[in-house]
Amino acid sequence: MTSDTYRALPLLIDGSLSYAAEGGVFENIDPATEEVLGTTADAGPRDMDRAIAAARRAFDETPWPTDLAFRVHCLRQLRAGLERHADELRRTIVAEAGSPVTLTHGPQLDAPVAGLGWCADLAESYAWETDLGVAAPLGVPTRRVLRREPYGVVGAITPWNFPMQITLAKVGPALAAGNTVVLKPAPDTPWTAAILGRIAAEETDLPPGVLNVVVGSAHGLGAQLAADPRVDLVSFTGSTATGRAVMRSGADTLKKVFLELGGKSALLALDDADLATVVGNAAFQITTHAGQGCSLLTRLVLPRARYDEGVELLVETLRNWPYGDPADPGTLMGPLISERQRRRVLGYVARGLAEGATVALGGGIPAHLPRGYFVEPTVLTGVTPAATVAREEIFGPVLTVLAHDGDDDAVRIANDSVYGLSGMVVSASEERARAVAERVRTGTISINGGLYYGADVPFGGYRQSGVGRESGRAGFEEYLEIKAMAYAH
Ligand code: NAP
Repeated sequence: MTSDTYRALPLLIDGSLSYAAEGGVFENIDPATEEVLGTTADAGPRDMDRAIAAARRAFDETPWPTDLAFRVHCLRQLRAGLERHADELRRTIVAEAGSPVTLTHGPQLDAPVAGLGWCADLAESYAWETDLGVAAPLGVPTRRVLRREPYGVVGAITPWNFPMQITLAKVGPALAAGNTVVLKPAPDTPWTAAILGRIAAEETDLPPGVLNVVVGSAHGLGAQLAADPRVDLVSFTGSTATGRAVMRSGADTLKKVFLELGGKSALLALDDADLATVVGNAAFQITTHAGQGCSLLTRLVLPRARYDEGVELLVETLRNWPYGDPADPGTLMGPLISERQRRRVLGYVARGLAEGATVALGGGIPAHLPRGYFVEPTVLTGVTPAATVAREEIFGPVLTVLAHDGDDDAVRIANDSVYGLSGMVVSASEERARAVAERVRTGTISINGGLYYGADVPFGGYRQSGVGRESGRAGFEEYLEIKAMAYAH
């Protein structure tokens, strides 16, 4: 991909592909090479204001919220358009997110694009009204009907790690439900969203203002969107710290705030677990997209009596783990998104050492990859549950290994976290793994390596990992109000 391929990809505002009001552009950096890929229109507050106004108009003044058949038609067009441009999107996600190309055949691209079809089907078959039957509250015979309606204008704010997946998990159900959307993507991955905007504008019948894409490098755009009184619902994915700020921004107008946040998920190996299964899953999880996934398992909790054996096998497995060029189909692990993120991750490793951990593997910048923001697959051992590296989200390929003294202790360690996003339990007995899994306070959990990922599966966190659920029927319903209608009978 060269800078000739892309020159200042534009914004989508009110149905038009346009450049920023102030005329600025910003650079898009390839994290695997540190080279400038090209530029994107750099939106400012005026662009955001126009986008919100357009979304408001489209919701208030057009039949979009009530014309289900047309919405379904537009969503299917959008899916077809994205499929037509799959190669371009695949290259873009690899280039700007540093995502392994392998992942674009699943959660980074193909799966969420197919998920749009699932969303359209769901909207089509959904029971938009429920008849509760006749009752006589206060002696007035009444037929009660529950009707589902869209919220209005949705502000969708996304991070950089899974730019298409997270975007479509918001845009798909929000539009299917009849809302209009202003999308504010992360500045580190601007092109995935800009291409989505271009396809929506050029290859679908989406009316002006129904979907707006406002990409900018200034850090105030998300806050502007979250605070604007014309926005009815904010759907945010990102860090827990930013999630708190979003909630505060939405508080003055009491808008619905839907949050998908960080995690520090645990892989619990019970004392009868097959260590090869445990280690295979742990290695896969910590290296997938270089650990830049909210639900990846970043704490490995081994039975104390098998701790050394487990660590030895883990180090042996990860020592020869392939990583490097994300465009190579043989790798699952590319670079971190930025130098800033790399400094943050290496800072956590240093903090772990200062608090008594040992680096059993990695811990630095790989000598064979001098360009790009790479960090070695890293294993920290001798970590106590109180250590910073066992508590805070690192968002890099750093696995902390803890020891437990039985099932109750393993559950206690897993739950000793402000987060509650995901987890895995491995045991020779599925029944025993299930009993432990039921006690782990997380929104998703795997038993012996099963994968919960899918358009029809609600995803989200307990505690400070989020509020609400994305995907599945529950995710669709996040974008719907309930109106109770009462007919005199
Ligand atoms: P981030 O720093 O929280 O940013 C996420 C988005 O929020 C960006 O678009 C950012 O844009 C915007 N933003 C920043 N400050 C804001 C504010 N005050 N008000 C409104 N928007 C604001 O997260 P990130 O570093 O991009 O992504 C990594 C984080 O996302 C990790 O913590 C990870 O766990 C989490 N994540 C969670 C899930 C999930 O489903 N639970 C999935 C993926 C990632 P600007 O920087 O331009 O302001």
